[in-house]
Amino acid sequence: MNMIPPVPGGTQRQQELVRRDLAHLWHPCTQMKDHESLPLIPIRRGEGVWLEDCEGRRYLDAISSWWVNLFGHTCPRIAGAIAEQAGELEQVILAGFTHEGAVRLAERLADLAPGPLSRCFFADNGSSAVEVALKMSFHYWRNTGRPEKRRFVNLSNSYHGETLGALAVGDVALYKETYAPLLMEVFTAPSPDCYLREPGADWEEHSRRMLGPMRGLLERHHREVCAVIVEPLVQCAGNMRMYHPAYLAGLRALCDEYGVHLIADEIAVGFGRTGTLFACEQAGIAPDFLCLSKGLTGGFLPLSVTLTTEEVYQAFYDDYENLTAFLHSHSYTGNALGCAAANATLDIFDDEPVLERNRELAARMRSAVAPLEDHPHVAEVRQTGMILAIEMARDRETREPYPWQERRGLAVYRHGLERGVLLRPLGNVVYFMPPYVITPEEIELMAQVAMEGIDRATSAPGEGP
Ligand SMILES: *Cc1c(COP(=O)(O)O)cnc(C)c1O
Repeated sequence: MNMIPPVPGGTQRQQELVRRDLAHLWHPCTQMKDHESLPLIPIRRGEGVWLEDCEGRRYLDAISSWWVNLFGHTCPRIAGAIAEQAGELEQVILAGFTHEGAVRLAERLADLAPGPLSRCFFADNGSSAVEVALKMSFHYWRNTGRPEKRRFVNLSNSYHGETLGALAVGDVALYKETYAPLLMEVFTAPSPDCYLREPGADWEEHSRRMLGPMRGLLERHHREVCAVIVEPLVQCAGNMRMYHPAYLAGLRALCDEYGVHLIADEIAVGFGRTGTLFACEQAGIAPDFLCLSKGLTGGFLPLSVTLTTEEVYQAFYDDYENLTAFLHSHSYTGNALGCAAANATLDIFDDEPVLERNRELAARMRSAVAPLEDHPHVAEVRQTGMILAIEMARDRETREPYPWQERRGLAVYRHGLERGVLLRPLGNVVYFMPPYVITPEEIELMAQVAMEGIDRATSAPGEGP
């Protein structure tokens, strides 16, 4: 057993908070028994890329607190916009009523989004945005006389959220398998994931080749298919696997050819993570549905949006008696505080050269982990924009993975906490997806600690089950 001791120095106050937490909270995506040996860390404040616990220990947030934060914790501009909005209007029912923040946000998103995406339907989390896209696509075909179209196509290793519909169109076994009896069946095409390319093949060639099985699937089933759903360029929850934009361009053409919608889930990759504001831009395509959340509010508040085209919208627009309306709602649809945070976030994109600066930071991240290129237990270092992933493997040549039971990533996580960097590996993949306000010095620290953690995790035996 390779047990690294819990972070030292828990004062009474901090320990007391942890005790109270464990008495009543049930944490997301957590085997709660792990907290018998894994420290739970109470955070008191945040600033920039830093989180500070009740002892004053600081952690560099290398994962943007689950990929939501863009411009740093407590970013004053966004915090100020929310405070101002809270004194004005916090929330109003969005059926029959509206407010300026939602109107402005919808106008701006329609303007920024690729192609003819001009209609915004708000919800309050990513999974719900996916549910909206799935229901709208199905309902569009029903309203236009094609009720037999009721199936969805996804990619292997994809992730679209945890509610039952979103889970059904995902393909990460760890999250999905248990609930399989509750889920609708989907058609799954192989992911263009370039980690799986043949030796010698380049990303573009491999990604294009994966259009073959997708074509075969649509050829056979297009009459009963509503939509294909994908995560453009990076399958984030699926261990940060990446592919070439040529796949998206080819997929757009296939969807047009076979008369099915394309749903782009940019909940994780939107707002600059891949180097462009939206990942779809790199393929020069527009989907029929675009799902956004996470960075939409700069990481301050839960808000999501599903954008679609005027054509889809018009298929629902009719006399009430014809019962074609989209009768879907969430209590907090278009929440005024969320919209204020999102508008402030877009203001920052308007006023500052964010994407340009990110290109330098991205290059810096790459060079900072250059020593890993010939590490015996690193099979690949891959990067798309501000997302950089390091795939640990038992053997770098054969790419034989470490058994998941060894929890190598957890050892990296523990090491990171000791050294004041929040890394949260996915299985055997250590990755960086930091807030855009990270400095070159902070990148060096983040990379240094990750490399130490990888050395440590791969030189010891695994923790075992
Ligand atoms: C996080 C995520 C979701 C789900 O969003 P939640 O707000 O967690 O429900 C859906 N799709 C992708 C690609 C995501 O990364």
